[in-house]
Amino acid sequence: MTKFSSVRVRFAPSPTGMMHLGNVRTALMNYLFAKRHHGTFIIRIEDTDQARNFDPHATQILDDLLWLGLDYDEGPIKGGPYQPYFQSQRTSIYEEKLTILRESGLAYRCFCTHEELEKKRKRQLLLKLPPRYDRTCLSLSPQVLEQKLAEKKPFIWRFKFDTEKMIALEDLGKGTVTFELKNFSDFSLTRPDGSFTFMFANCIDDIVMRISHIIRGEDHLTNTVGQVALFQAFQAQIPTFWHLPIMGNKEGKKLSKRDFGFSLHDLKKAGFLPEAIDNYLAIIGGGTFEQEIMALPELAAQLDFNSIKSTGQVRYDVEKLKWINHKWTERLKSTELAQRCLPLLQDSYPAAQHLSLQQLVPLIEIIKTDLIVLTDCISLLRFYFERPTITQEQLSPYAAHFKQIVGLMQDHRALIDENVTNFINTIKSACKQKQIQLKDMFSLIRIALTGKADGLAIHDVMAALGATESKARLQQLANIQL
Ligand code: GLU
Repeated sequence: MTKFSSVRVRFAPSPTGMMHLGNVRTALMNYLFAKRHHGTFIIRIEDTDQARNFDPHATQILDDLLWLGLDYDEGPIKGGPYQPYFQSQRTSIYEEKLTILRESGLAYRCFCTHEELEKKRKRQLLLKLPPRYDRTCLSLSPQVLEQKLAEKKPFIWRFKFDTEKMIALEDLGKGTVTFELKNFSDFSLTRPDGSFTFMFANCIDDIVMRISHIIRGEDHLTNTVGQVALFQAFQAQIPTFWHLPIMGNKEGKKLSKRDFGFSLHDLKKAGFLPEAIDNYLAIIGGGTFEQEIMALPELAAQLDFNSIKSTGQVRYDVEKLKWINHKWTERLKSTELAQRCLPLLQDSYPAAQHLSLQQLVPLIEIIKTDLIVLTDCISLLRFYFERPTITQEQLSPYAAHFKQIVGLMQDHRALIDENVTNFINTIKSACKQKQIQLKDMFSLIRIALTGKADGLAIHDVMAALGATESKARLQQLANIQL
């Protein structure tokens, strides 16, 4: 399936801080593709642009990948045969490659200033011409060139396209895509401060690191033209490309900061599970699955990379993500869930500071079916950490029989010490006898125990609180004068 002897793919983020869902999907597809083909998954940090380098050690990205379970084979902390994996530490490699291009006449200095280029661009647009670099500096006479260098005029290096040529590239998603080079500008290899551009460094590293498949966002499709020309200039093996469609929101617009879940951090904070995020992002691109809930190894085995949607848009739908998340909370063991919920509870309730995992597991078991996202445990278990405050307003629907109901509770509450089921059964027959609506009785017991008329099973709540606390809460209700 490849001209390379083994599959080597890379995720190459710029350390701009938080990962957004588009990045996560790119990382995930690279990871799954590597696993499926017993290949190597590489992380390379593209930090040559100081203006966009907000996380110099890429700590955030590496932590996020770890959290998502996307373990890599070569990269920043682990190292590997092509280290270093931070582009800012690879300058000498780029310098060497630039020299090769210069010596073969494929790179030239450009002294045009930003203002001059902008003026030219506007003129071309006015004349309805495609805005392209007009190659002013390609034909500078040796004297003018000497003079500009002597004056220490700032310059960049540009790659010289062969404008007669066409570039045809194979994209796993889009098929064969062809471009006429005469429509493209000679792109920059360096910046005015001497640093190397994304276009150059990214491609050189793909060559040097022997990348077999380039899986990245569709926004890079046009960059591929210049990069393929570079591969050809170095007579390097051209990898197979796979440009993933841009993610859209439910309305079909490009996913943006305004959409909840755009940033991975939002989802993490809201209590979504990494397993669910991986699962969801892997299956939304298309394909039909016998069952949709899959962990990474299952996804790598089941995903049909040929049927993954490659054109149009992949739409992000938080409701579907929630559904998958819930399926995952059901699938995870209660001890595992308890481990993940404990810090959330400790952040919310002082009384949870000394809660042990052993104490938490049975609590998780009673709320598990209602747990959509992890943070739901905070409201679902509030009853355990805080005695409810009951308002008159909450009780007013029961005013007519309040005294009678509370009286019955009091009459039988000693039974709670012996057996909660006994207490509930006795209360049930007492209600029948006194023609009290069972629903009202149970709602009031729940209000007494949890502050809410509906929700968890009374039996479970009493078991969690223990007899003494349950009785005390019923007493608290009985003390209210309606
Ligand atoms: N640094 C680029 C980005 O973050 C990587 C593009 C690529 O994968 O080639 O978009």
